[in-house]
Amino acid sequence: MFDLIIIGAGPAGISAAFEAQKLGLNYLVIEKKLIGNTIYQYPIGLTVFSTVNELELVENTLKPAREKPTREELLSYYVRFVLENNLNVQTEEEVLNVEKLAENHFKITTNKGVYESKVVLFAIGAMEYTRKLGVNGEDLPKVHHLFRETYPYVKKNAMVIGGGNSAGEAALFLAQEGANAILAIFREDWENTDPKQGCIKYWVKQPLEQELSKECLNVYFLKRVVEIRENEIVLENEDGKIETFPNDVVFILIGADAELGLLKNLGVETRNSRYGTIPVYNEETFETNIPSVYVVGHFTEARHIAGAIQVPRKIIPKIAEKLRV
Ligand SMILES: Cc1cc2nc3c(=O)[nH]c(=O)nc-3n(C[C@H](O)[C@H](O)[C@H](O)COP(=O)(O)OP(=O)(O)OC[C@H]3O[C@@H](n4cnc5c(N)ncnc54)[C@H](O)[C@@H]3O)c2cc1C
Repeated sequence: MFDLIIIGAGPAGISAAFEAQKLGLNYLVIEKKLIGNTIYQYPIGLTVFSTVNELELVENTLKPAREKPTREELLSYYVRFVLENNLNVQTEEEVLNVEKLAENHFKITTNKGVYESKVVLFAIGAMEYTRKLGVNGEDLPKVHHLFRETYPYVKKNAMVIGGGNSAGEAALFLAQEGANAILAIFREDWENTDPKQGCIKYWVKQPLEQELSKECLNVYFLKRVVEIRENEIVLENEDGKIETFPNDVVFILIGADAELGLLKNLGVETRNSRYGTIPVYNEETFETNIPSVYVVGHFTEARHIAGAIQVPRKIIPKIAEKLRV
């Protein structure tokens, strides 16, 4: 019987494991893909927007070559952190079900085995379901809901649809590296400067504006995407005009949502928030309405890597204390 099973080895799960290890808990992290899998899926070569102190698990241990780390530096940091601290992480194992057998007694079923634990901590992130537009042609092979790299699209007609930083960065990478890129965006998203509302960050917006002025990028103020065809895309602009563009590749980058099925099966309540549906939890302890079931990281309101790392530092000692009692 484990004291604590942590589901997910992103920054939240790794931070929780590190705290659990320091406190001598008998814990296990189960990760369905790779350590830091969400970061692994960032665009190749991306420089992340957070500062080093928001990303590191122990002060002064993340040392990027420039001011902020790239995807590769950050991923390497988290992987090495797990290995060097000998954290108990099992990868490529998916949790399929969590069942409450009694107070402080859960059965965790994965695709590889069955475990028992007194406490379960969900650190599953919010990348499970990339959001879809629901338009005709969205299932064509040229349509992607993640952006990984630009080089296959040099000289191609690329359409990026979305209003946040990921869409802005993808359009920038494509424009800078020789694709004929169009960013299709709602005007209010383009003009939004409030970071709390997930705007395009200024260090992406400024080079985007430069690409625009050099005519290496077009911005299209969108009302809706009408249809995606094999070699074209049909858009309606903000004035209601329907226009057809030649098109080789489409990136629909409009966010992603968590899979809350495991939690709902356990009886955990959910609610609507500005980020979509999230679990209901105590804001101090991050415990849900099911005692000994906790949630941390990007599918709670303590989002981004800073929140994902900080919350476990606060709650794991409290969990350890409760277990001792
Ligand atoms: C392109 C891009 C750039 C970003 N840049 C930044 C940035 O600069 N700064 C910042 O703070 N944030 C950034 N973010 C957001 C950041 O990645 C998340 O906030 C962070 O990953 C959250 O950490 P987490 O541990 O909560 O979740 P995740 O990192 O998403 O980890 C969750 C893990 O749980 C695993 N998992 C899910 N379900 C199961 C299951 N059933 N069984 C086992 N394992 C499971 C997943 O495989 C995943 O590895 C960016 C996001 C994107 C997409």
